[in-house]
Amino acid sequence: MDVRVGIGFDVHAFAENRRLVLGGVDIDYPLGLLGHSDADVLLHALIDALLGAAALGDIGGLFPDSDQSLRDADSLDLLARVYGLLSGRGIKIINIDSVVICEQPKILPHVDAMKAAISRALGGLPAGRIGIKGKTSEGLGFTGRREGIAAQAVALLGFD
Ligand code: MG
Repeated sequence: MDVRVGIGFDVHAFAENRRLVLGGVDIDYPLGLLGHSDADVLLHALIDALLGAAALGDIGGLFPDSDQSLRDADSLDLLARVYGLLSGRGIKIINIDSVVICEQPKILPHVDAMKAAISRALGGLPAGRIGIKGKTSEGLGFTGRREGIAAQAVALLGFD
């Protein structure tokens, strides 16, 4: 099997009066993330990693901000649509890994729920093939100042 790797990165700013959705999970936190969709920074990085590995462009091209039907879109639905693109081409997801960079909220308590949500969107990809880690930036930079959350992801795809 031919294997190909993809990388994804995303940032969203904290904002008041917004939900905080990370990895498809609603998190109880005083601030949410600003964005056209639900601003799920982790899923956006993951979508770009998957699209990148398959050379299918990027999230902005597939789901543009100018598309009013995507306002407050559930990023799990977008991830599921990307999975459909991959599976329709016979492409298999071998594994994904990711890092969510923020001082708060803590990511670890939500990892199992995030993996379950991501697995559902990715055709039942086993939790053992999904990596999600939280990391602070030691108080440095915009994440350290708690101005927003950054996420990185990689995906390994298999092509017959
Ligand atoms: Mg985004």
